[in-house]
Amino acid sequence: MTMSDAFSVEHFPVGCLVSDSKRQILYCNRFVEEHYGYGVSELVGADLFTLLSRASQIMYDSYLLPLVMREGRCDEIRLSLVTRHGEPKPVVVSLCRDHPHSERIFWSIGNANRSEQMFSELTEARKLLQQKISLLHNLSDTDQLTGLPNRAALTRHLNQKIGHPESAQLAFALAFLDLDGFKEVNDRYGHPVGDKLLRLVAKRMAANLRNNDLIARFGGDEFVILLTGEFGSSEAEESLNRLIRQVSEPFEVESLKLHISASAGVTLYPQSEAVDADQLVRQADQAMYQAKLAGKRQLCLFNVDKERSEKGKNKEAAAVRNAIASGEFELFYQPKVNMRTGEVLGAEALLRWNHSDRGLLAPAAFLPALSQTSAGVELGHWVIASGLTQLRHWHERGIDLHVSVNIDGYHLQHPDFLRQLKDLLMDCPALPKHRLELEVLETSAIEDIDHVSSVLTACKKLGIRISLDDFGTGYSSLAHLRDLSADILKIDRSFVRDMLTSPGDLAILKGVIGFAGTFQCDVVAEGVETIQHVQSLTELGCDLGQGYYIAKPMPPQVFEAWLRDWPQRGLL
Ligand code: C2E
Ligand code: CA
Ligand code: CA
Repeated sequence: MTMSDAFSVEHFPVGCLVSDSKRQILYCNRFVEEHYGYGVSELVGADLFTLLSRASQIMYDSYLLPLVMREGRCDEIRLSLVTRHGEPKPVVVSLCRDHPHSERIFWSIGNANRSEQMFSELTEARKLLQQKISLLHNLSDTDQLTGLPNRAALTRHLNQKIGHPESAQLAFALAFLDLDGFKEVNDRYGHPVGDKLLRLVAKRMAANLRNNDLIARFGGDEFVILLTGEFGSSEAEESLNRLIRQVSEPFEVESLKLHISASAGVTLYPQSEAVDADQLVRQADQAMYQAKLAGKRQLCLFNVDKERSEKGKNKEAAAVRNAIASGEFELFYQPKVNMRTGEVLGAEALLRWNHSDRGLLAPAAFLPALSQTSAGVELGHWVIASGLTQLRHWHERGIDLHVSVNIDGYHLQHPDFLRQLKDLLMDCPALPKHRLELEVLETSAIEDIDHVSSVLTACKKLGIRISLDDFGTGYSSLAHLRDLSADILKIDRSFVRDMLTSPGDLAILKGVIGFAGTFQCDVVAEGVETIQHVQSLTELGCDLGQGYYIAKPMPPQVFEAWLRDWPQRGLL
C-alpha cells in the first residue's frame, strides 16, 4: 500500500466528487456511492444531474457553475441530492477548481447537519399540516350542497370583522333570507329537484352580489348575506330588493319551470350598542320573520330602537304573566252564523288585554312582541283554558254553541301542547268535545308539518274540530289543507273585502269554496261587512259567515244579550 493509497479520499467520511464543465462525473468516492445507493464506480462517467434534484439542477446552472468558473470556488451551498431511489437528501456542498484554467470542479459533499435536516423536515411537515388544516377548514366551512360558506364560516368571519381593532370604522348590512314556497317544491317534486333548485338559487344570488359581499347558506332554504361598504339603509334595501326580485324569476330544473320567491330581513352595523355576530344574525332573522308575516316576497328592516324598547321581551313577557295572573286578559266573542237560515252556530274567541295603563288592547298591539316566546305559549294556554270555561258555562246553561279559539303555529309545535290540552279537557268531562274548535293560525310558520299534523290528528280523535284560519293567504294553504286534514276553512277577510270589486279575489273565493266541497270541509267567510257580502257569498254557496255586518266581537255578557235579540233582528 503506498502513502497516497493510504490517504486517498476514497475512505473519507464526506462525499468527494470531481466533475467537468460539461457536467460529466469524473470521480466520486465510496461515501457518495454508499449514501446515494449506487454501485461501485456506477456514477463515474454519468451526468452530474442524475445526482441533483430539479431545483438543484437549476441552482447549479444559473449560480454555482458561473460562480465557480469566475471565482474559482464557492462555499457551503445547500443543495438537494437524490438517491438512486429518487429520495431527496439535503446536503451542503463546497466547490473549487484546482487552477484558474482547469475545467475540473472538485466537490465536497456533507450531510446538511442534523439540526438543519430536522428543521427542514419540520418545515415540510408543517407545510403538510397546514395544507391539511386548510383542507379541513374548507370542508367544515363549506356547505356541501351549494359550495357556499356555511353558518360556522360566516359567524367566524363576522366575529373577526367586528372584533378587529378597526371595526369602529366598519359599516355593513347583514341580511337573512328565507325562500318562500321552497318546501312545496320539495314536497311536490322530491328532494333531488329541491337540491338542484337550491344550487341554482345560490348560484344566481352569488352571481348578483358584488365582489366584496358574502353569501352563506345557513341550512335548509335559509341564506345570510353580508353587504359591505358605507351603507345607509336605503342602499342595502335596494340591493336586497333586487335580489328578492331575481329569486322570484323562474328557475328551470329538469325541464320544470319552478317559481319561488324570498322573504328577507336586514340589520345594519354599527349600532349604538355593542353586538356580536349571533345577535346580528338573530336581528336579521327576526326582521325576516316580520317580512313573512307581512305577506312574504318582501324585505323588512330590523328596528333597533323597537328592539331596545322591547329589550326585554323579557319585560314584556313578565308583564304578560302578571296580566294573566291579575286577570287583565279577556276573551271577546264574535258570532258565526248561517247567513241563509240565520242560525247562530258558534263564536270565535278573540283576545283582548284590559291594560291598566293603555286601556283595551287588540291582539295586534301585543301579540307580535310575544311571537315565539314562552310567555306567548302561556297566554295561548290561558286562551284555551278560558275559552273552555266559557264553553262549559254556556253548555251548563243550555246555550249550545261552538267556540273556536285561535292557536298560533308556534304554540301548536310546543311539545306539551297536546298533554296540556288533554288536562284541560279532563276538567270538563260533560262537555261534548266537538264544541271546541281550534283555529290554526300562521300555517306558513309551521316548520315541522309532520309533527303538527300528528298533533292535529290526535285532537281530532278527541273530537275537537280543526279549522284553517286566514285561508287563501300565503303559499302553503293548499298543501296544508292536504296535510292537516281540516274540518273547516276560514276564508281570509281580504278576499271577502275585495270580492265585490276584484275579479281576481272573487275567483280565488270561488276556488276555495269549490275545493272546500271537494275536501268535504265547511267554509266560513270572515269579514262580512255588508249586506252585499251576505248576498254574494250565499249565492256562491258559502253560507257560513262572520263579520261586522253580523256583529262585532263582544264580551260574554254582551254576546249573550246579542244572542237573545238576534232572532228578532236577523240579517236583513
Ligand atoms: P283572526 O283570527 O282573523 O280574527 C278575526 C279578526 O277580524 C278579529 O280581529 C276580528 O275582530 C276582525 N273582524 C271580524 N269581523 C270583521 C269585519 O267584518 N271586518 C273587519 N275589518 N274585521 C273583522 P282581532 O280581534 O283584532 O284579532 C286579530 C287577529 O289576532 C286574529 O285574526 C287572530 O289572528 C289574532 N288573535 C285573536 N285572538 C287570538 C288568540 O286568542 N290567540 C292568538 N294566538 N291569536 C289571536
Ligand atoms: Ca281566527
Ligand atoms: Ca282570519
